[in-house]
Amino acid sequence: MAQLSLWDTAAVVREEQAAISPSDPLIPDPEPHSQSRNPTAGPGSSPEPRAIVAALAFERAFRRLGIRGPLPDFQVEYRAFAGLRAAVRLRPERAVVRVSDLLADAAPAVIEALAEILLARLFRRHASPEARELYLAWNMTPDTRRRVEEARRARGRKRLLPPQGRNFDLESIFNDLNVRFFRGQLAVTRIGWSSAPSRTLLGHHDPAHGTITISRWFDLESVPHYVVEYLVYHEMLHIQYPTERSGHRRVVHSPAFREAERKFPSYDQACKQLKKMAGLKGGR
Ligand SMILES: [Zn+2]
Repeated sequence: MAQLSLWDTAAVVREEQAAISPSDPLIPDPEPHSQSRNPTAGPGSSPEPRAIVAALAFERAFRRLGIRGPLPDFQVEYRAFAGLRAAVRLRPERAVVRVSDLLADAAPAVIEALAEILLARLFRRHASPEARELYLAWNMTPDTRRRVEEARRARGRKRLLPPQGRNFDLESIFNDLNVRFFRGQLAVTRIGWSSAPSRTLLGHHDPAHGTITISRWFDLESVPHYVVEYLVYHEMLHIQYPTERSGHRRVVHSPAFREAERKFPSYDQACKQLKKMAGLKGGR
């Protein structure tokens, strides 16, 4: 494994912005689509407790560094980045901090160390050796490395084939469904066919990249149009109903999601057809 250092950052550091991205310098910020952002960080939603705790850590670090001027109103958002990334951007009215959700479970001291490092960069100060060491130590633990790698794999850019397949055009299906069922409100950065014709991963919505992928297995003449439509519709519902959290549990298909799903005109037919195709015996 290549040694990763906090300091070999490729992130842009401008006067009003400081960022750390030690592991995935090639992966840019997720697109600012409101539907594709991490549901824990949506505008209008009240910040969760861990974000408030993190904001306090930034305030303490700001004071500790002896930075002159009024204390910014820190607003921390945890994002489903594809790597261990953190950035702070100073705006006139507040300081927006975007942190990888991989850091959400880190010890408070780690968050505070990160705050110190980011603010030191932003204000051209020196972070304490303690802060650097603490953050780097956390960064290099096997558990952190494993989770970063998992996130990179799961969230990194996927190879997507163009939406126009041999038999179906996913983009026109998406646009049609968008008008018919979503008032044209949903947006993706890309929709396309998977490079492999998977029989197990039929479709996928990636909120980090705002992409919808449909298994190329369905781009066959023998597949009814409504089946592909249904698959796209299902993935579109994932934009409409982002994964919720119930305690420590992730609710991917909420009751509201399932209810909306049953409104698809050929829902029963599509399910039957999918079961047939997949050779499934039981429920989905
Ligand atoms: Zn689903």
